[in-house]
Amino acid sequence: MEKILVSACLLGEAVRYDGKDNLLDSPLWQGWQQQGRFVSICPECAGGLPTPRPAAEIVSPPAEIRRPPAEISRLSAEMQTPDPKQAIRVVTVTGEDVTAPFVRGAEAALKLAREANIRFAILKARSPSCGKGLIYDGSFSRTLIDGDGITAALLSQHGIEVFTEHQLPQLAKRLAEVGS
Ligand code: SF4
Repeated sequence: MEKILVSACLLGEAVRYDGKDNLLDSPLWQGWQQQGRFVSICPECAGGLPTPRPAAEIVSPPAEIRRPPAEISRLSAEMQTPDPKQAIRVVTVTGEDVTAPFVRGAEAALKLAREANIRFAILKARSPSCGKGLIYDGSFSRTLIDGDGITAALLSQHGIEVFTEHQLPQLAKRLAEVGS
């Protein structure tokens, strides 16, 4: 049976930046949970950030954000000597650079997924860590652009298929295709 990496906030853990959760209520979700498929992580907490914490968004030129996986991989490789001119940064609404803990959290999620031989993930949409396909543009104006969160990008780059909580039927189809 395929395990699934999931965002902890979707399981009702109060780990969001504002101290709340994103508990998901769906028959598919509950069925997978009852089957014991879920391995959960909050990448931002795993990266060392407190809860609650200031809201953060990815700041980068639009051309860069449309191809984040390679960029995230480079950031991950340069964790010990971050380049101050790096194209992708994560900043809080108060202006603090939190790129390093975001990358640490992404690496923790990848490590957890590898340890459990996980090939699929359900991550919270639009988060600067967990978002897949659409994220906020870094202006803190609720403007969405194409792109992935730091964790979603790193997992995708390493072959893990990432779905949002709005794509559970698509994941169900994939699980059927792989016979699990
Ligand atoms: Fe943590 Fe991801 Fe949920 Fe944000 S979206 S609270 S990083 S699990």
